[in-house]
Amino acid sequence: MQTKSKLLLFVALMLLGLGIATIINVSLNFRDYSIKSATQKAMMAAAIVKDGLTAHMVNGIMDKRGYFLNQISSNNDKIKSLWIVRSEKVIKQYGKGFNSETVRDAIDKKVLQTGKMVQKITESTENSMLRITIPYKATVSNGPNCLSCHNVNRGDTLGAISMEFDITNMRNDGMLTILKILAINLIFIIVVLFLINYYVTPYMKLFSDMQKGIRKAYRGDFTHEFITSVSGDAKKIINQLNTLFRKMQETFGDIKYNLATFIPQGCVSSSDPLQEAKTIIGELSDIYKFKKTIEHDDTKELVYQRVVEVLRSKYKLAHFAFYEVDTLKATRKLIYISHGKSLCNDEVDTDASLCRAHRTNTTVISSEFVDLCKECTCKSLEYICIPFTINDENSLIISITAQDKNELNKINTSITSIENYLEAAKPVVESKILMSKLRNTSLKDAMTGLYNRRFLEEFIDTMASQAKRDNTTYSVLMLDVDFFKKVNDTYGHDVGDKVIVKIGEVILSNIRESDLGIRYGGEEFVILLHNATDEGSQAIASKIHSEFAELTFDAGNGKTIQKTMSIGVAKFPKDGDTIWKCIKYADTALYVAKTTGRNKIVEYTQAMSEDEHLR
Ligand code: GH3
Ligand code: MG
Ligand code: MG
Repeated sequence: MQTKSKLLLFVALMLLGLGIATIINVSLNFRDYSIKSATQKAMMAAAIVKDGLTAHMVNGIMDKRGYFLNQISSNNDKIKSLWIVRSEKVIKQYGKGFNSETVRDAIDKKVLQTGKMVQKITESTENSMLRITIPYKATVSNGPNCLSCHNVNRGDTLGAISMEFDITNMRNDGMLTILKILAINLIFIIVVLFLINYYVTPYMKLFSDMQKGIRKAYRGDFTHEFITSVSGDAKKIINQLNTLFRKMQETFGDIKYNLATFIPQGCVSSSDPLQEAKTIIGELSDIYKFKKTIEHDDTKELVYQRVVEVLRSKYKLAHFAFYEVDTLKATRKLIYISHGKSLCNDEVDTDASLCRAHRTNTTVISSEFVDLCKECTCKSLEYICIPFTINDENSLIISITAQDKNELNKINTSITSIENYLEAAKPVVESKILMSKLRNTSLKDAMTGLYNRRFLEEFIDTMASQAKRDNTTYSVLMLDVDFFKKVNDTYGHDVGDKVIVKIGEVILSNIRESDLGIRYGGEEFVILLHNATDEGSQAIASKIHSEFAELTFDAGNGKTIQKTMSIGVAKFPKDGDTIWKCIKYADTALYVAKTTGRNKIVEYTQAMSEDEHLR
């Protein structure tokens, strides 16, 4: 039942109860009053009759009393009948009297016996009668001395007077009054209910509207516009609520839009933006933690292990295999399998193009078509194979098996989320692959152990595009020994070589794992400092510069020499949009160092490129 109906019913019942109580009270009082009034009349009539009879007796006209009694009852239309009866003692002294004066009923008898008044109401549908019988007692004082005529004792009952009163009118008047009260009550109830309904309905509508809006908000939908005809404070609250809801809707719209850019594939789909935001943020947080962890892993194999761990613990995958595909050689290598042997034919390992997922670069789901992958050896199992491209040379395949279609459908819902993890792992795996290639000795300079110029030529473009994707920065340092020719010319090439070897050591001891030291030419070196701040790269350049200047070299014949170097510095991508450009700018800065006195560190500025001399 609606709250309004409950309220109206409650008020109506309360008012009705009050009305009934009033009616009962009024009717009881009315009846009581009617009876009392009739009784008083009877007492008065009894007193008159008594006095009249005494007068008759004193005047010796007792035989005329019939007329007197008739007059009394006929003068009062309410008295329907009136009679008197004699007690035994009076009968004994004066005889039975008139026939009408004999005991008529049990009430007369009882009053004569007990000497106490009796009254009785007889009611029928037509009328109401009040019968009162009052005893006459023998008195001495306060009236005539009864004992002077009657042979009785004081206080004895001499007789009784009985009267019947018609109180039908009184009853009818009472009924009418009650009906009037009832009508007034009903009108009052109707008016009160109407007023309550009139004033409460807008609030009730407001509450139900609020309930509706809040229920929608609970589901994350804040589009509800609250409307009310109520004015005053309630209106103010509604306006504030509307403003709040609009803000919430805008905020959640923004959050949803922004989150969608983080997970463009939309791994979550829900009608509740709150729930959706919570899930996406949870997903992003997990992926962020995953990415931070794998960035510190040394090898790509460790990263693969983490992916396997995620598949097992987060997605609760029990049966799956993880492969790495060499795209150029078209071979497939098993990285991990949960148990047993690969589901695919062995030939797939040597000819990866047989793998449908790899060949089509789309996820293969067994339920989509009967016998979808021809290389699957176990026809009784369902499977999902997810391909994922790392770069031009490498891709991954995750092959998940399910016991039935239900399990398959469950796994299917996780594919996008799994791909998000692979997406996060992609740059890390790519850089690990690159780093492992960099370890190749053919790209290193034998004399210094630093990378050689060939390395730079081979990998600089890959590094630059990866750096752009990951927002990586590089500080490019170009180093050149001052007046190196003199060393060769004066002390010979061997001494010159010693200097070059020492530079390699100084560089390697001052750079981090992620930085790159390259012997660029004869006694020219390039250093790429990974994600270094301006202060950081300046500090490293200064340290290399000063450490080298402090070194002493044995020049033979008991002679020692000291050398200095000049360093040019440029920043990628701040100064140039390719690393090659930045190397060129670092060279320009080095030239400035050389032409302005040598033995110094010079940072590249755009003005240097604008200077015709330096171009
Ligand atoms: P600057 O201050 O202008 O740099 O004067 P510099 O004499 O150092 O001039 P430059 O840098 O052009 O000199 C390079 C010299 O380095 C030329 C070459 O003889 C010498 N050189 C190049 N490779 C080697 C090497 O492997 N061993 C030795 N000992 N010398 C080398
Ligand atoms: Mg030089
Ligand atoms: Mg040089």
